[in-house]
Amino acid sequence: MKILVINAGSSSLKYQLIDMDNEQVLAKGLCERIGIDGSNLQHTNVVKGEKTKIEKPMKDHGDAIQMVIDALVDENIGVIKSMDEIGAVGHRVVHGAEEFADSCMITEAVMKALEKCTPLAPLHNPPNIIGIKACQKIMPNTPMVGVFDTAFHQTMPPKAFMYALPYEYYEKDRIRKYGFHGTSHKYVSQKAAEFLGKPASELKIVTCHLGNGSSISAVDGGKCVDTSMGFTPLDGVPMGTRTGSMDPAVVTYLINQKGMSAKDVDAMMNKESGVSGVSGVSSDFRDLSAAAAEGNKRAQLALDMFTYQVKKDIGAYAAAMGGVDAVVFTAGVGENDAATRAAIVDGLDFMGIKIDDSKNNTRGTVDISADDAKVKTLVIPTNEELMIAIDTKRLVEGK
Ligand code: ADP
Repeated sequence: MKILVINAGSSSLKYQLIDMDNEQVLAKGLCERIGIDGSNLQHTNVVKGEKTKIEKPMKDHGDAIQMVIDALVDENIGVIKSMDEIGAVGHRVVHGAEEFADSCMITEAVMKALEKCTPLAPLHNPPNIIGIKACQKIMPNTPMVGVFDTAFHQTMPPKAFMYALPYEYYEKDRIRKYGFHGTSHKYVSQKAAEFLGKPASELKIVTCHLGNGSSISAVDGGKCVDTSMGFTPLDGVPMGTRTGSMDPAVVTYLINQKGMSAKDVDAMMNKESGVSGVSGVSSDFRDLSAAAAEGNKRAQLALDMFTYQVKKDIGAYAAAMGGVDAVVFTAGVGENDAATRAAIVDGLDFMGIKIDDSKNNTRGTVDISADDAKVKTLVIPTNEELMIAIDTKRLVEGK
């Protein structure tokens, strides 16, 4: 079965067509500037290894999806003969709230439930919903599945997901920890179990998704029991431009004492903070490492703050699970930045976590643990699109 994976943003749409018989990506691409001047489609025929850029106005997501389908079936740049070859579409949806504890087939009732989640993710869910509706219009007979960033974290117990606010804020306003990057945490924790040759049900794993946005999860017996992102993706470790956790009274202080508006504080915490805000250099860890190597103290401080918080989460989650069998690094920084991985696990040998420096300097799916380490430290490239396709196939086949 060939599955089209769609990740719709406010003015962009990413896609992959995956042949699930061999999990091979046939084509992938990106529509940019939807509804804005200069709309274009960047399409890669992965089979032939050929890239094409098509500039054409796209007034909305419907136009974008039509262009994607046209490219996929095109005689020259396409990979399929007709749209009928697409067995199902898997849609990434950011927020599934408590409504969705697993991926699910999209029905009328699901669309209604999705709309109910929108106030919790006002920036992300609306384009996801628009993407689904546009696809339904163009492919009315193709089954669609929604895969939620939050779903994997729905197994967290209340003691982990509740905030100590008056209870009615949870009951009436649904304020609680939801967690994000769930598709990635699920994928790499499953791959880790496969790699170790043990059933996920027998493993305690800490998964570290370290990218531009970062989150850490505790996965006990294949189920998420805690995660570092919260009500929004702002919580947890410092990120490229997001603060991560801090005393929430800083927010009221800035509003009450400095006269900042709530909107400005929100923008500052999301877009001007994190390792970028501390260093004044960049949100990109490659730039930070280069600056730190040249003696930039604030770049080094930003890196130290990041690695310190990730280290603390690994310790905290080992405590929460009563042990840890494996630590998994994934995403842009987790997969590529050996020095940051080394700094994170430095000093954790007391709990059996120790890496081998030469193994740490390799790429791909790799065990970087020292021979005498009690806990496995693994690098596993994430693949959220494949996880979406796997879930889509499972649901379409009625499993
Ligand atoms: P996103 O959260 O946007 O999906 P990614 O997981 O792709 O992000 O991670 C992007 C980040 O990964 C970049 O901002 C950069 O900091 C980091 N990164 C990518 N490659 C490297 C590398 N070779 N060394 C260090 N950091 C890297």
